[in-house]
Amino acid sequence: MKICRFDDNRLGVLQGDAVRDVTAALDVLPTYNTYPLPTVDPLIAHLDKVRGRIDELLPDAPQLALSQVSLLSPVANPGKIIAAPVNYLKHLDEARTDSQIHHQNAILEIQKIGVFLKATSSLCGVSAGVDIQHPDRRNDHEAELVAVIGKTGRNIRREDALSHVAGYCIGLDMTTRGPEERSLRKSIDSYSVVGPWMVTSDELADPASLDFSLWVNGELRQKANTRDLIIDVAGLIEYASSFYSLQPGDLLFTGTPEGVGPVAPGDTIAVEMRGIGRTEVAVRLSPTAG
Ligand code: MN
Repeated sequence: MKICRFDDNRLGVLQGDAVRDVTAALDVLPTYNTYPLPTVDPLIAHLDKVRGRIDELLPDAPQLALSQVSLLSPVANPGKIIAAPVNYLKHLDEARTDSQIHHQNAILEIQKIGVFLKATSSLCGVSAGVDIQHPDRRNDHEAELVAVIGKTGRNIRREDALSHVAGYCIGLDMTTRGPEERSLRKSIDSYSVVGPWMVTSDELADPASLDFSLWVNGELRQKANTRDLIIDVAGLIEYASSFYSLQPGDLLFTGTPEGVGPVAPGDTIAVEMRGIGRTEVAVRLSPTAG
């Protein structure tokens, strides 16, 4: 099932070029009117229940054209956004070779450097577009497979790891190049684009051989396959969960392949990933750029 969030926090199921409005399925979620709020994403934490209600609603669900809706991040409230740096060998090579990418930072292998976190305030859907905050610096696209964690776990074994995934999305790990920590440069508002929808893991059982490509204004920039990940999805879950608990709604950016490059306001980024779909993201100048 391809589940999306759209327009004014509505819930949808993608069927071909149509979005079926199943917002009423959100009624099965618990309401939270006491402090503190849970640290999990409620939609993902209760996805089985929501899907049961979706199945009941679908036959009569209103239909909208995909082209007419504004797509939000499929997960609204992730507890954390985890990201894998330099997780494709050819990207490691280009990052070490190009001073505009490494900025005198030591580019270490992922086995040594581990994973990092992006601020949840950087999350947005594909229709919101990317707002360039520092136009005087190089701002790069990084197309990545994103796994949505579906259930809580710590020290998850590799062989169990994919059973902890609720679904998969396309991600853009947007990056301002420079000397600062990754977690700062990659956490600018709108620099974690996730979408266009989440394909549930029962429909996309094997994330290990997905072709994907990224174009800027129609020019092919990145073309790769997830089989070339240095640490694959299961390995990343095993690794990350050996440090912190993974919880429903946590997002895992799995790393970008070679071909990263700059974008500027006015550009359009297109990304296509087998098993998920194709989407376009506009790049604009942030109204608060400076
Ligand atoms: Mn990345």
